[in-house]
Amino acid sequence: MLPWSGRRFLAILAVLFFLNWLIVAIFAPGEERIRVPYNPTFLTQVRDGNVKEISSRGDTVQGEFREEVKYEDDQAKQFETEIPTFANDEELSQLLENENVTINAEPPDSRSLLETILFSFGPTLLLVGLFIFFLRRASGAAGGGAGGVLGQFGRSRAKLVESEKQTVTFDDVAGIEEAEEQLVEVVDFLRNPDKYAKLGARIPRGVLLSGPPGTGKTLLARAVAGEAGVPFFSASASEFIEAIVGVGASRVRDLFRQAEEAAPAIVFIDELDAIGRARGGSGGVLSGHDEREQTLNQILTEMDGFDPAAGVIVLGATNRPDVLDPALLRPGRFDRRVAVQPPDSVGREMILRVHSRSVPLDDDVDLHQIAQSTPGMVGADLANLVNEAALLAARRGHEKVARADFTDALEKIVLGAERKIVLNEEDRRRIAYHEGGHAIVGMLTPGADPVRKVSIIPRGQALGVTLSTPEDDRFNYSQDELRAKIRVSAGGRVAEEVVYGSVTTGAESDIQQVTGIARGMVARWGMSEKVGFVTVAPQQGQSPLLPGADPVSSATQELVDTEVRRIVDEELDATRELVAAHRERLDRLVEALLEHETLDELDAYAAAGIDRLQTIA
Ligand code: ADP
Ligand code: MG
Ligand code: ZN
Repeated sequence: MLPWSGRRFLAILAVLFFLNWLIVAIFAPGEERIRVPYNPTFLTQVRDGNVKEISSRGDTVQGEFREEVKYEDDQAKQFETEIPTFANDEELSQLLENENVTINAEPPDSRSLLETILFSFGPTLLLVGLFIFFLRRASGAAGGGAGGVLGQFGRSRAKLVESEKQTVTFDDVAGIEEAEEQLVEVVDFLRNPDKYAKLGARIPRGVLLSGPPGTGKTLLARAVAGEAGVPFFSASASEFIEAIVGVGASRVRDLFRQAEEAAPAIVFIDELDAIGRARGGSGGVLSGHDEREQTLNQILTEMDGFDPAAGVIVLGATNRPDVLDPALLRPGRFDRRVAVQPPDSVGREMILRVHSRSVPLDDDVDLHQIAQSTPGMVGADLANLVNEAALLAARRGHEKVARADFTDALEKIVLGAERKIVLNEEDRRRIAYHEGGHAIVGMLTPGADPVRKVSIIPRGQALGVTLSTPEDDRFNYSQDELRAKIRVSAGGRVAEEVVYGSVTTGAESDIQQVTGIARGMVARWGMSEKVGFVTVAPQQGQSPLLPGADPVSSATQELVDTEVRRIVDEELDATRELVAAHRERLDRLVEALLEHETLDELDAYAAAGIDRLQTIA
């Protein structure tokens, strides 16, 4: 809370309390009323004809004297008394009647309707006042500036990034050249619109960046802003539907208004899938669906609405282009789609270069080699790797970041941070056999990825790790390679079985992996003859219970299950044979593991007595 608003808050609170007090003081003035005894004072006054009117509630009688009466030290017209239960009611009634005393049905000081309302609703009004105050403050802070009580809610929260302040440029983006080139073109549209207009070319309205998380979509958009030299409005899609229902659409409207006024300009909507999900799809059961739809409709309307010559380009980014509403993707909207792919090894090296620009590197650091040993890593991972290495070097007191810092940082990222738990000798041996099993099977199975590291140091959730990564980036796997993966995953459990004749819980994630691959082979990749060349698995993000998933007959479901079992069982048998046949190698590898805890690629192959090069060939 800012100091000024804190003070203002207290002031308003004080005013509200004062008002409440004032209302009570005005409408419910405390009247003086004396308490008199029933006998003698009350009865005497009645007999003297000095009682004007009374009213009673239970045994309590309140009333008014004609003339003021003094009782003890007090003197007043208003009085109150208590009728004893044993008093003769009939006699009293008779007396009152004789003396012409008015008997009211209501106590004289009962509150009027207005007073009742005020007293019962006063606190509520106070709360409502406070609520409105908070609303004003919240929306005021978000939108900035004055406005109606609720008017601020519809305001776009998009951040306008001034072109001069934008420091990211295309130099900061590496390894995703194809995507970059397309955006360089967009920047050119904005800088030289005439060049295109002369030839009658229409500037694209929307450019959709799609690709896995961390590949640099947001970065790329910011670089466009930095290069184009035009105002850049950036907003995350979830911001549109945040807070209160009904404002998503008006925020969109507001954002586009602002952009049109500032044209040429770029509007960037990050995480577009948060609103752009296909309508009537699997999101239907979740609340907020209508709101999302309205927001989406508004985006569509705005994109159709603005003048192509106005020079507003909408950039969108998403990790899930597959779930986007087709209406967003048709020509005239996000008609240009740029796929941002994970970088290949050359790209990774360039990204490492970009991120180590300000990091002093030791001579022994070979970025080329690091890039080669990190297939599958995207820009964000590599940025993280460089940072972790630098942190490690600082902690170790190095002058420059050394090769060892990189290898250890990579190990920490890939395998997880080491966990300090004490294991007894028996458990360690068992873990060594489990990991040794994965490793041995990996070394001996043609088509399996080479074993890079075996470790029996507990990390994260795992008690041990065997790391296998491919020689090159892989985009496509053959059936044999998938089966090899199943064998390697099963190797740990199989080794335990072969050596101990019993099993442990340690293979849970292995089993998940095996099941996942086998299920994919049968249900998605058409690798089972019985099921055939059809997709029977629900698409990602769709469960069979939700609309939009393809219906599959229960007979097919059953067939899929039996086929998955068949594949897994076949591979399990083959793995059992393999491990049993190479039991001696396994034992040697386990001894080495127990001694060194972690073995690198070459040490592991040497310990097992397997020629590394022979298996590649
Ligand atoms: P996305 O939006 O695709 O999920 P980001 O653009 O947010 O990913 O990337 C996160 C960070 O990772 C960036 O700020 C940048 O430091 C780094 N990064 C990602 N991709 C690249 C790349 N191609 N070149 C350089 N740095 C990258
Ligand atoms: Mg992003
Ligand atoms: Zn395992």
